Amino acid sequence: MRIGQALKLTAEGLLGLLYPPHCAACGADTPSGMHLCAVCSDQVRPISPPFCRQCSQPFDGAIEGEFVCANCRETKFHFDCAVTRHLSRGVVREFIHRFKYDRQFYLRHPLANWMAVALEDERIRAQPFDAFVPVPLHATRYRERDFNQAEVLAKLMAKRTNRPVLNALKRIRYTTTQTRLDREERMENLRNAFRVRHAPAVQGRHLILVDDVFTTGSTVEECARVLSLAGAASIRVITVARG
Ligand SMILES: [Zn+2]
Ligand SMILES: [Zn+2]
Repeated sequence: MRIGQALKLTAEGLLGLLYPPHCAACGADTPSGMHLCAVCSDQVRPISPPFCRQCSQPFDGAIEGEFVCANCRETKFHFDCAVTRHLSRGVVREFIHRFKYDRQFYLRHPLANWMAVALEDERIRAQPFDAFVPVPLHATRYRERDFNQAEVLAKLMAKRTNRPVLNALKRIRYTTTQTRLDREERMENLRNAFRVRHAPAVQGRHLILVDDVFTTGSTVEECARVLSLAGAASIRVITVARG
């Protein structure tokens, strides 16, 4: 009995560590299962229209109906749209970093909640999809990090929608950090960085490509390009946030 109680306490202690009952941003007490208090949650405002139909870049100004930003007008993409309703700022940016680099794994839940807003977007709802495809990490980076953040998020989206995760892509080239490169340089750096594992699995499929952040779009574009060459019927992108 005492051992049983001790085990129970240990289990609760561990759960408490995994799911601290306080706001992950400011430390205020929160109801069990909540990772953000009402005040911090309120600071995270979804991007509201107008925003670019292609890349979700918000636009300050009055535009009636759909529009495509200047950047997207001059680019040909292999994905139909990159959908996110949050900017990578403040708490959103902080949680993405803490999740990825500080291994605060429980933060996958608030990140998944923000990502799920994209699933409700008209651009996703308009057409059914067959599977989620996470942007892969290179094996070396995977070993360093122990998990692929895109795959973790894709699994949570799969659970919510009852659709499978298809690990259709493999990262075959180790690419150095892209933060200092512009879009052209990033595209060049990523050229042939990915390949499709098994083309028949994606042929004729409507896919949702999943990544944590959309910055210039060069990573998801390169993934979409190889998926499209392999015969995917359509590719849309969802991310937690955009840079
Ligand atoms: Zn808070
Ligand atoms: Zn755009």
